[in-house]
Amino acid sequence: MLEVEDIECRYGSVNVLHKVSLQVKQGEFVTLIGANGAGKSTTLKAISGLLPPISGRITFLGEDITNASPRRILEMGIAHCPEGRKIFPYMTVQENLEIGCYRRTDWKQMADDMDAVFDRFPVLGERRNQAGGTLSGGEQQMLAIGRALMSRPKLVLFDEPSLGLAPNNVQKTFDYIMEINGQGTTVLMVEQNAYAALEMCDRSYLLETGHVTLHGSSEELIQNPHVRHAYLGVEGEDEAA
Ligand code: ATP
Repeated sequence: MLEVEDIECRYGSVNVLHKVSLQVKQGEFVTLIGANGAGKSTTLKAISGLLPPISGRITFLGEDITNASPRRILEMGIAHCPEGRKIFPYMTVQENLEIGCYRRTDWKQMADDMDAVFDRFPVLGERRNQAGGTLSGGEQQMLAIGRALMSRPKLVLFDEPSLGLAPNNVQKTFDYIMEINGQGTTVLMVEQNAYAALEMCDRSYLLETGHVTLHGSSEELIQNPHVRHAYLGVEGEDEAA
C-alpha cells in the first residue's frame, strides 16, 4: 500500500533522514520506534507531503506521491494526526472535526462519522460548540484523532498519540486506534513508548539517528537484545547477546 524507498530529508543544510525505507501493507498496523530526535516525525511529514524528501521515492497505492501536495495526499486517503495535537484553538470542536472532512460532500455520512466520534469520546459531543483551545490536553488529543478520521482515510499516520495523556486516556486512545485498525484502516504509528507500540502492532521499524537499523515483526523486535536493552529497559541483555 505504502512504499517509502531510500528517502532523505533535510532541515536547512542538515540531513535528518538517511535513505529511510519502509513498507506498509493494506490493513497492517506498523509502528516506528526510536529515541527523541531519531527522525520519526520527519518520516511521517515526508509521507504526508509536509516535508518533501530531497531524494528517494514514496508511492501510495501505486502512485508516486514523493512531491505531491499535502492536499493531494489527503485526497488519496492518507490522514496525518500530528504530534502535539495541533488543533485549531479558536474554532469549535465541531468546526475542528469539519475541517477534517472539508473535501467531502456526502453530508449524511459525514454527520454519521461525527456522531461516531462523539459516541467514542462523549466529552467532545458535550463540548461541540466550545473552542478547541479550551479543551484539556487529553481532550485535544481525542479531537485530533477524531479530525484525522473524519476524512475516512485508508491510512492514518499517528504521531505520538499518547504524548501528554493521563494513563487512563493513554489506554483509551490505544484501544481506539486498535479498533480503527481492526475495522480495516491501515495504521502507521510513531510512538516513544516502545513497549506499548510493539504490543499493539504487526510489524515495527527502529529508527536511530535517521537510519532504519532494524525491522521485523513485533515479536522479533520484542525479543531483540538491543531493543530490549535500549528501548524496553530490560537490563543486561546486550552484554549477554
Ligand atoms: P521526537 O520524538 O523528539 O519528536 P523524532 O524521532 O520524531 O523525535 P524528529 O522530530 O523527526 O525526531 O527530528 C529529527 C531531527 O530533526 C532532530 O534532530 C530534530 O532536532 C530535527 N528537527 C526537527 N524539526 C526541525 C525543524 N523544523 N527545523 C530544524 N530541525 C528540526
